[in-house]
Amino acid sequence: MISKNQYDAIIVGAGFSGMYMLHRLRSLNLKVRVIEKAEDVGGTWYWNRYPGARCDVPSMEYSYSFSDQLQQDWDWTEVMAAQPEILTYAGEVADRFDLRSDIQFETNVLSVVYNDESRSWILETDGPEAFEATYCIMATGCLSVPNTPDISGAANFKGDIYHTGSWPHEGVDFTGLTVGIIGTGSSGTQSIPVIAQEAKHLTVFQRTPNYTMPAHNQPLSDSFRNDAKANYADIRKQQRESMVGIIGYGYGFGGATTEEPTESILDTSREERDHLVETLGFDSIQRFIDIGVDMGANELACDMYRSQLGKVVKDQETAQGLMPQNYPIGCKRPVIDTQYFETFNRDNVTLVDLRKGGIEQITTSGIKTEQGQFEFDVLVYATGFDAMTGALLAMNIQGKDGIKLSDTWDAGPRSYLGLQVHGYPNLFTITGPGSPSVLSNMMVSIEQHVDWIFDCISYMKDNNYDLIEASGKAEADWITHVNEVAEGTMFTVSSCHSWYLGANIPGKPRIFMPYVGGVGLYREKCDAIVKNDYEGFNFA
Ligand code: FAD
Ligand code: NAP
Repeated sequence: MISKNQYDAIIVGAGFSGMYMLHRLRSLNLKVRVIEKAEDVGGTWYWNRYPGARCDVPSMEYSYSFSDQLQQDWDWTEVMAAQPEILTYAGEVADRFDLRSDIQFETNVLSVVYNDESRSWILETDGPEAFEATYCIMATGCLSVPNTPDISGAANFKGDIYHTGSWPHEGVDFTGLTVGIIGTGSSGTQSIPVIAQEAKHLTVFQRTPNYTMPAHNQPLSDSFRNDAKANYADIRKQQRESMVGIIGYGYGFGGATTEEPTESILDTSREERDHLVETLGFDSIQRFIDIGVDMGANELACDMYRSQLGKVVKDQETAQGLMPQNYPIGCKRPVIDTQYFETFNRDNVTLVDLRKGGIEQITTSGIKTEQGQFEFDVLVYATGFDAMTGALLAMNIQGKDGIKLSDTWDAGPRSYLGLQVHGYPNLFTITGPGSPSVLSNMMVSIEQHVDWIFDCISYMKDNNYDLIEASGKAEADWITHVNEVAEGTMFTVSSCHSWYLGANIPGKPRIFMPYVGGVGLYREKCDAIVKNDYEGFNFA
């Protein structure tokens, strides 16, 4: 017999979103429970333990700002910390704020159904218990459902198979083994150089080459940390008001330069561009203001990029194979790396450029492509995620009158501000589609959404409301706005096949999911809506 546990609020997910949401809601004296399928907190940083995993936003900025004591006490060791350090940080936050006592681990939410009569959400899980709550807050992550492509013969492979997005806790020892890896996005680009150092041989199966920039990661000095800590109030304010939630304090974006780009690439001569590549390498393209807004400028930058790649990679056939072609820099999530291209100069690394002939099937001992058979002991998928909508749709959410989220989102996700979906009262999504989310330093976006939801629930308590729902009109207007600002940007050009557009998942509707207007502007819009008595939301 299933017992129902009654709560004021259920939060699904105990990554950085769920942890902070729990902390805030506790202060309202609500009865709150977090349900998390993992064994511990950390979300992304709990699951993605692959070799080389680290953040690509400076850690002084990719961290919580809500507790000054926490940010003063915590010492990041590198500009961009590695996964174990970020997971330790998540654990420290859980300890410090005693979060684990209200988190139910190892429990997977399987269905989330709205009961029109009781005006509550019923959550069923893979455990013996069901849960009932007035508010249901989805902190399930934008990149939490690993995508394993359906390649024929995969079940026949005799060796071990791993996915970067659900890496074994005990790690993998590649010593003496031959390895095949599929995928050259951020996860592949981070793990390939590290696996290559350990494995006997690494074969990289690349379908689309990426524009990746040097990370320039380095240890942080005490003096830098102290200086940043002394300026934290100002740093955090600037982050919140910025475009992507990063100011690059002290190190710039990726540590390459702290200077703002000022020049137009269209004003440069061929000789000047050659000279810049010669002296600055890949970093040379960071100095231009127009490559993100002008296709001609972008093409010139792509040429500079390919020219530098040809210098770094010694074998010219391999270099050609690694060169991105026919799509602009900036249309996909930026990738930064440490010694990625240099890794292809190693004798134990082979690039298989799938543009010359794709994968036909996985065999018992490797991968058969149109170019021939490649043999290895271990297979690694670095093939990404069913991003932004994957975790939400996996929970079989049903709103008012039994309407299913999978039907509401049949043609792509719809939401008001990425915070609520019309027809799903009292259900909130942290960093949902339609918000800046993955186009930003996620910590900034997470904190903003959690604070907004907290304020909203406080307001409802103060005004004796127990129901909030986004209106259909507000939702439709917001979607129009989200599409309008995305139009004409690099993100939506037809040659770009990014996961922002759902293009990585066969059959997924192709629609640009995040809000490109910037975190500063988005925050202003959210705040204005609150000031205007929660314009676009209906209360009861
Ligand atoms: P998550 O951390 O994804 O947590 C969601 C949690 O929900 C997970 O623990 C999951 O197990 C749980 N969950 C989901 N569905 C269910 C269910 N049905 N039942 C129970 N539990 C469920 N962002 C940046 O801004 N900067 C970076 O440098 C950066 N690096 C990244 C590196 C990697 C390898 C990846 C994959 C992502 C990275 N991101 C980065 C994005 C990252 O996801 C966010 O920064 C942030 O960690 C998201 O936190 P979250 O709590 O919203 O989601
Ligand atoms: P991804 O960017 O989606 O890359 C997946 C890779 O797998 C792509 O190269 C893709 O090729 C390839 N692939 C997928 N299916 C394939 C198939 N059937 N055959 C051959 N190749 C296939 O995924 P990701 O690298 O995991 O990164 C996802 C996001 O997570 C990032 O964009 C970022 O937001 C976050 N992340 C951040 C960091 C960080 O540096 N902090 C690290 C990891 C992840 P195509 O391009 O041709 O589809």
